[in-house]
Amino acid sequence: PKPPPVMRYNLNNVTITGNPVENNENILVLTPMARFYQGYWDNLLQLTYPHELITLGFIIPKNREGNAAYAELDKQITKTQKFAPEKDRFKSIIILRQDFEPPLSSQDEAERHKMQNQMPRRAAMAKARNSLLFTTLGPATSWVLWLDADIIETPPTLIQDLAHHDRPLIVPNCFQRYYNGEKKKMDERPYDFNNWQDSPTAQKMASEMGADDILLEGYRDMPTYRTLMAYMEENGGDVHQEVPLDGVGGTALLVKADVHRDGAMFPPFSFYHLIETEGFAKMAKRLGWQATGLPNYKVYHYNE
Ligand code: GDP
Ligand code: MN
Repeated sequence: PKPPPVMRYNLNNVTITGNPVENNENILVLTPMARFYQGYWDNLLQLTYPHELITLGFIIPKNREGNAAYAELDKQITKTQKFAPEKDRFKSIIILRQDFEPPLSSQDEAERHKMQNQMPRRAAMAKARNSLLFTTLGPATSWVLWLDADIIETPPTLIQDLAHHDRPLIVPNCFQRYYNGEKKKMDERPYDFNNWQDSPTAQKMASEMGADDILLEGYRDMPTYRTLMAYMEENGGDVHQEVPLDGVGGTALLVKADVHRDGAMFPPFSFYHLIETEGFAKMAKRLGWQATGLPNYKVYHYNE
């Protein structure tokens, strides 16, 4: 029998540039998925980045809700990969089922966001993201787009627009549409508070904490006085305006694959008193990679 072929890759030939379409750069879109939303899939399909350069990766919890999400996702994948026009089909799709018990995964928005539920929840999310990343990142991957399963609306040129900034980590501003009862019309509000610039108050709080304790953002009982990108948005402001960030969220986050290759991952423990995506931004920074935010470039989270 013939010995298996040796695969050789020269990482220097895998470019990571501000013009990824022209340079045929492969992108890995990674989504931890507890629930399936049709709006997520429809939005993914309308992305204009060449689908033949996109690999999709999912990690889905092994519980009842996860099984339902998997079944829905599988149906949509078959529809696209088998029956849609060639240009709509993705290069490849990888689905992982989580092999550990996800805590609190079936809780609603209010329950998930309670402070005492955050530490175990964020640690579990960090592990899910790490499993997904380490099993899917390939030698030809140029970019990783983290996209939550409840992001249901982005500009079709999301990938090109973010990549064009040519930054190691970059995040758009994640909002949520809702019905404003006072104004009696649809309105929008900031959703992701994990995109922030650090403050002396938060630094001081961290310095007085136990080694395993973490700082959380967006809680009245823990005022950090950090500058939140969520509130930097200006109606009609320049969508390409950049701000430096010290913490990032994972709802939509574009990362150069080299940042992950250097070892930056999502700490499922207190790392400089930060956890998960916020810890990731800190770890990237320690490796020499600065996070950037786009306050006026918006994507939208599902409203439960
Ligand atoms: P929030 O919007 O910040 O409250 O967080 P979500 O509950 O929306 O979770 C972030 C992302 O992870 C979403 O895409 C969820 O579908 C997904 N998710 C939530 N919990 C789990 C879990 O236990 N395992 C996996 N694999 N994904 C999860
Ligand atoms: Mn969410």
